[in-house]
Amino acid sequence: MPAVPPYPLRFEPILRQLIWGGRRLGTLLHKPIGEANDYAESWELSDYRDAVSVVNEGELTGTTLRELVQFRGREVLGPGLSGRNQFPLLVKFIDAREVLSVQVHPDDEKGKRLAGDNGKTETWVIVDAEPGSLIYAGLRPDVTREQFAAAIETGQVEPLLHRFPARPGDCIMIEAGTVHAIGAGVLLAEIQQMSDATFRVFDWGRVGGDGRPRALHVREALESTDFARGPVNPLIPALETTSAGNVHEQLSRCPYFALDRWRLSRPAVLGCDDRFTILMGMEGRAKVRHEGQRVRLAFGETLLLPAAVGPCEIIPDGEAEVLTCVVP
Ligand SMILES: [Zn+2]
Repeated sequence: MPAVPPYPLRFEPILRQLIWGGRRLGTLLHKPIGEANDYAESWELSDYRDAVSVVNEGELTGTTLRELVQFRGREVLGPGLSGRNQFPLLVKFIDAREVLSVQVHPDDEKGKRLAGDNGKTETWVIVDAEPGSLIYAGLRPDVTREQFAAAIETGQVEPLLHRFPARPGDCIMIEAGTVHAIGAGVLLAEIQQMSDATFRVFDWGRVGGDGRPRALHVREALESTDFARGPVNPLIPALETTSAGNVHEQLSRCPYFALDRWRLSRPAVLGCDDRFTILMGMEGRAKVRHEGQRVRLAFGETLLLPAAVGPCEIIPDGEAEVLTCVVP
């Protein structure tokens, strides 16, 4: 790895094709997709098993996120987080041309025990939603384990799910243990723990690429579901106008990540000096100023500000909307 000081880092997206994916990762977000119409996920920052992000801009081009964490943890993660051997967060864009399976993720303890993986708490920020598209988040009030198990048995899961229309800009926090599905027509950004522990309970009667139903994980799902959780609705963010006239919204807060949204019409200084910050471009274009360089942050793009880079001035091109995500 070149011995150069860190700078705002851009990584090559890792594209995932799955039966429910579509084309919008390419057509709207300008990811380098091929001809197929099943592009489901763009892993923007990942240090998960064999899916590891690689820097694709500047002097650190070719360096993996895992190498940065393992060999330059103090500079990249920050002093309080260094010593970890894995980057703690996974951020993605997800294009659901079709509805995703109904699923639940375990918490850390159950993730380790049932899947040999971290738990998974996640947050969605909706980018685009076709008319009529839905979000399924949580069970209807008072659904019991017995009712849910019987519904899985008979394939009648949908009536037990809480649902609402998907609206661009809405932010939904899916804590571990919440039954959920992303509906057909939704394109969203997802911020989550570095984990892929997913237990599927219902796949809408469809078959996978091999013509057979995809596996369900009923026992693990029932054990991971929090039956006290009930319906989950979009967050109502606390909103603040900064002295420069920008709008700041506090989105989700949990032990794993703190997510904020910034609607910028004037330059703003974002980032931290003691930990890394993830920046995601959600609307318009901006430039990130760092030591005389200006790094582009457009809609659909993700940058990692290493801890050693410190706060940076973000200059919107007209107006821009940016998410920031840190480990609290
Ligand atoms: Zn999920």
